[in-house]
Amino acid sequence: MRRPIKYTQKSDLFDGLPDDIVVFILCKLSSTASSPSDFVNILSTCKRLNRSGAHRLVLSRAGPKVFAIKANKWSEFAHRFLKRCVNAGSADACYTLGMIRFYCLQNRGNGLSLMAKAAMKSHSPALYSLAVIQFNGSGGSKREKDLRAGVALCARASLLGHIDALRELGHCLQDGYGVRQNIAEGRRLLVQANARELASVIRSVTQSSPSSSLLTWGPQPYHIGSICPLLNESGDNVSVPEVHPANWFLRDWFESGCGVLAEGLRLCAHIGCGRPETRPHEFRRCSVCGMVNYCSRGCQALDWKLRHKMECSPPEIWADDNDGDADGEGGDNGGGAEADVVAGQNLDVG
Ligand SMILES: [Zn+2]
Ligand SMILES: [Zn+2]
Repeated sequence: MRRPIKYTQKSDLFDGLPDDIVVFILCKLSSTASSPSDFVNILSTCKRLNRSGAHRLVLSRAGPKVFAIKANKWSEFAHRFLKRCVNAGSADACYTLGMIRFYCLQNRGNGLSLMAKAAMKSHSPALYSLAVIQFNGSGGSKREKDLRAGVALCARASLLGHIDALRELGHCLQDGYGVRQNIAEGRRLLVQANARELASVIRSVTQSSPSSSLLTWGPQPYHIGSICPLLNESGDNVSVPEVHPANWFLRDWFESGCGVLAEGLRLCAHIGCGRPETRPHEFRRCSVCGMVNYCSRGCQALDWKLRHKMECSPPEIWADDNDGDADGEGGDNGGGAEADVVAGQNLDVG
């Protein structure tokens, strides 16, 4: 007859693992976790995991999804956790906390320096966000716009593979905005941005569901975060790119009522952006309907193809007053906006 095995304290294999192996495993977990709870829950498992999880190396490797905090879950604990990851050297933590402080907590200087810290680590979303801030003079007055700096930051971010930055750069070149006009080069970059976007969608489809054929042609219901190619005028597939958790947080923060926008300020209408205005009339406006505002040319172009071209129409009152206004030539409709954007113009580029 076999004798039952006696489990003693010494037989615990986990205890036998050396610390550096545990830290190595946790580094892998923090860089690949698909949600904050994936990582945080493991820390509450036992004292040893809690101690190792707070290791500088583990926190420095934390990926963006570890910081995908919901706005209504924002707390002193979440803030402290982000700060610890910033101190450990995580570029994603610098960027996320920078965006939250700049746009949500109105701590502009600190938010900017955190984003700059991430940008110095070649964090492309941080470079792009700094570009948007320079283009708009966000956090300051209209006079503080620095278009050349915006273009330079966009160029750096696009070299690192940031698709929105590439699209923005293409529009700047096409329009001669902050850079010498070069229409052919601008169009080339816009085509490249769409091609890269499509490639990233195909990659995510094949990774998540290799057997399914989700890429179809023709208009589909718009649903961000899923694969939903739309057909634009040029016959290209336009897909919703993956949204950074920091952008989700911003939109969630203002739409859920956690944060209140000062009177007269509006959110960027592109659903994957979430940036709010920092002063009245900061953002560009669709000059046909005058109903939507965008932080950047890139956001406007993407939202036009994804959604707005199906909704945009001139207000009836304008149609009665002036039949020709719908062609977008009236750049100052409604008055006050710093930069109206002609809907449809520059947006039909493949
Ligand atoms: Zn935007
Ligand atoms: Zn419109």
